[in-house]
Amino acid sequence: TTTHQTALVTGANKGIGFETARQLAQQGFTVWLGCRDAGRGEAAAKDLAADGDVRFVQLDVTDADSIQAAQEHIADRSGVLDVLINNAGIALGDQEGPASTMRPETIEKTFDVNYYGTLRVTQAFLPLVRKAEAGRIVNLSSSMGSLSMLTAPEQPLAQFGLSYAYATSKTLVSTLTGWLAVELKDTPVKVNSVCPGFNATDMNGNMGTQHPSEGAKVVVQAATLPADGPSGSFFDAGGPVGW
Ligand code: NDP
Repeated sequence: TTTHQTALVTGANKGIGFETARQLAQQGFTVWLGCRDAGRGEAAAKDLAADGDVRFVQLDVTDADSIQAAQEHIADRSGVLDVLINNAGIALGDQEGPASTMRPETIEKTFDVNYYGTLRVTQAFLPLVRKAEAGRIVNLSSSMGSLSMLTAPEQPLAQFGLSYAYATSKTLVSTLTGWLAVELKDTPVKVNSVCPGFNATDMNGNMGTQHPSEGAKVVVQAATLPADGPSGSFFDAGGPVGW
């Protein structure tokens, strides 16, 4: 079955966002690729042209003017936004570290993209999502940001203890999801966070154990939830997990 719905995927020129855009286009969505770099964004739209109706829009999630312009561009052409995927994210590699020695600037930069970026884009596009019949917002979080996993007796996240800024930015993304879901509980809009698993992308030097098209599947699942699906939840390919 095909749909005539519209989706926006931030950070869609590569990695999980690119594969998410491909899968949504294959389902019949008009997909806007929100990319900060026009050259990379237009190249990605060209690569996905055979998969469906895929369009580039300039969007830097750290730049309020860019977000506003993208919102007006999509409002003019699509009128509503059925699906918003907050996928753009960074991990600052060598600048990362344990909380006791992290440079505040590194934490600020990471939060600016991963958390404030998600918040800014959601605030700008929510009016268009509310206009959709059954709006869906999907935030890319990570099990690394899960407080319940961090505080579990066996501490399954201890292995990630040296990525304080990234992990904490994702904790904030998951809490934002919960707060938005409460705010939107009497509307058709559903907002959920997902952990896509460990995917081979530039973010981790392609060390991930699965292709990003696998991670994209759980994103697409959250983007196409039925009316009786969850909101305010955090889930991965295996189902709900604690945030
Ligand atoms: P990639 O590094 O492959 O892709 C990240 C994307 O985000 C790129 O398109 C990048 O654009 C874009 N981006 C970065 N900063 C901005 C910005 N300011 N404005 C707009 N776009 C921006 O990473 P992944 O595909 O691996 O990650 C996608 C999401 O999934 C992230 O939120 C990540 O935290 C999350 N995630 C990934 C996991 C994994 O295993 N890979 C695991 C758990 C979560 P550009 O090319 O211009 O830099």
